[in-house]
Amino acid sequence: MTLARIPDAPPSAGWDLHCHTVFSDGRQTPDDMVREAYECGLHGVAIADHDTTAGWADAVKAAERYRLPLIRGTEVTADASGISVHMLAYQYDPCDARIVDLFASLRAARLARTKRMVELIAKDYPITWDDVLAQIREGDETTVGRPHIADALVAAGAYPDRSAAFAGAVGSRSPYYIPTPSPDAADVVRAVRQAGGVSVIAHAGDPSRNRRLLSDADIETLIDAGLDGLEVWHRGNPPQQRERLLALARRHNLLVTGGSDWHGKGGKPNKLGENLTDDDTVACIIERGAIPPILPC
Ligand code: AMP
Ligand code: FE
Ligand code: FE
Ligand code: ZN
Repeated sequence: MTLARIPDAPPSAGWDLHCHTVFSDGRQTPDDMVREAYECGLHGVAIADHDTTAGWADAVKAAERYRLPLIRGTEVTADASGISVHMLAYQYDPCDARIVDLFASLRAARLARTKRMVELIAKDYPITWDDVLAQIREGDETTVGRPHIADALVAAGAYPDRSAAFAGAVGSRSPYYIPTPSPDAADVVRAVRQAGGVSVIAHAGDPSRNRRLLSDADIETLIDAGLDGLEVWHRGNPPQQRERLLALARRHNLLVTGGSDWHGKGGKPNKLGENLTDDDTVACIIERGAIPPILPC
């Protein structure tokens, strides 16, 4: 297994390995994603919608159209002893039965939980489930989540934008909040590995997502399960956390990745390409993965 050199500073050129589209809570299409990545001069881009591969086919078409290399991935919702963990999974076999089952049950759990949250919010705000459905661009193929409730609240005039809705009724500290029942992060790591993919903990040092962060020991449990890397270059990770994560990566020969967490215009302020992964690290991901990249890199 080839190991990547671990950099001290974020790369200034390379790939954005963390982008969302209308197939989950992004506001733009896979075609928009690839076009923007091409226009920014990125070396390539990865689609990483929440709990689905539904956007992969459109992303492949766009990669071929703009002649920009593409990696296929997913951001998987998971849990580690009560801490909400997002796992980036890359280049795995999308037909793997365990992965297909995992995503189907996660999306069903998300739908039930999102409907329940809307029932609670609808007691105090002028929205219905149909208003939330009106915000979903790809029907059953879209992974539904709180951002779609936020969009319905914005459309109803209750908030000026998604961020304001997250600071209010849809936020994790609001009385309407219900967590998504999620698989254990170590099981996700094992499932991704079994499907021939590469797993990376997304924004592992972001203090805004949980009351407590994953400890080094929590991360070591995932390393024992087969974890490949840590997303260090992400706007949510403060400098001290980046140092901690880099030290862990050095100790355990982990891949160090970066990504913007782009959700398109009106999704989040994150700009496509604002954080990058270097070419050597991408080459390791491609070498380890079960499926080829789209276009040679
Ligand atoms: P859910 O997975 O349904 O609980 O929704 C969480 C998603 O909401 C995350 O994947 C984020 O992309 C998005 N999100 C969280 N906070 C914000 C925010 N302040 N503004 C916009 N989107 C957010
Ligand atoms: Fe998201
Ligand atoms: Fe995330
Ligand atoms: Zn994300």
